Amino acid sequence: MSTLTGKVALVTGASQGIGRAIALDLARQGATIALAARSADKLSAVAEEIITAGGTAKTYALDVASEESIKATAKQVLAELGTVHILVNNAGVTKDGLALRMKLADFDDILRTNLTGAFLLTQAVISSMMKNRWGRVINIASVVGETGAAGQANYAASKAGMIGLTKSFAREFASRGITVNAVAPGFIETAMTHVLTDDQKSGILAQIPLARYGADTDIAAAVSFLASDAAGYITGHTLDVNGGMYMG
Ligand code: NAP
Repeated sequence: MSTLTGKVALVTGASQGIGRAIALDLARQGATIALAARSADKLSAVAEEIITAGGTAKTYALDVASEESIKATAKQVLAELGTVHILVNNAGVTKDGLALRMKLADFDDILRTNLTGAFLLTQAVISSMMKNRWGRVINIASVVGETGAAGQANYAASKAGMIGLTKSFAREFASRGITVNAVAPGFIETAMTHVLTDDQKSGILAQIPLARYGADTDIAAAVSFLASDAAGYITGHTLDVNGGMYMG
């Protein structure tokens, strides 16, 4: 029997990139997957992949920047799948710019999507985990939440916030059998990083001791581990998956 058979996992930002890889991996471990993001077509394609491979998945239109959408999606997932055992707060966006010129709206928007969305969605599903007396919340942070990054004051603040949120939730929910951890990816090849110039990419590569960019499957493997019973004594931790780029 697979390690997550009988578990329901809700993954945000599951329409592509790291979220898609996480959803596929959790499905391979036997979990039923609630795939959530804004792009319905892309979500359907991921659901199709999971179902073709013998897994179970349903899609949910979700905008994590909207409290209304978060509440409606959580309600629908709980009504249709009965509970949520594993929540992966993965949806995230960037809007880079130098701090001196950064518009308030560009700061607020990134915080709202990357951090407030994770806070609200966790709040919306945590009581189902409490009832189960078992739960896993896994937040996708970033190496820049630990190091800072010029041109990414908004994004780095949101990801550093994610780490503080993780530790606070971990303390609040530990007595209910719920662990809360973060995974902090380094440079992973996805649509988010395809926009970087070759110069920027080679500059980053030079800082990675393992001398390669990460793959979405590297992050998925870390998430599946944290979701498993084998990781049951780990909480409040930030797991760096960055090729050695930053050693906290
Ligand atoms: P990506 O390919 O751009 O995917 C981002 C995902 O987030 C998409 O599925 C997108 O789906 C979803 N999303 C964005 N805004 C959303 C919203 N308002 N509501 C719901 N879903 C939303 O990026 P990625 O590289 O896979 O990144 C995934 C996570 O890893 C992010 O949190 C990112 O910050 C983090 N991360 C990435 C790297 C990297 O090097 N790639 C490094 C460190 C951390 P829709 O557009 O369909 O809504």
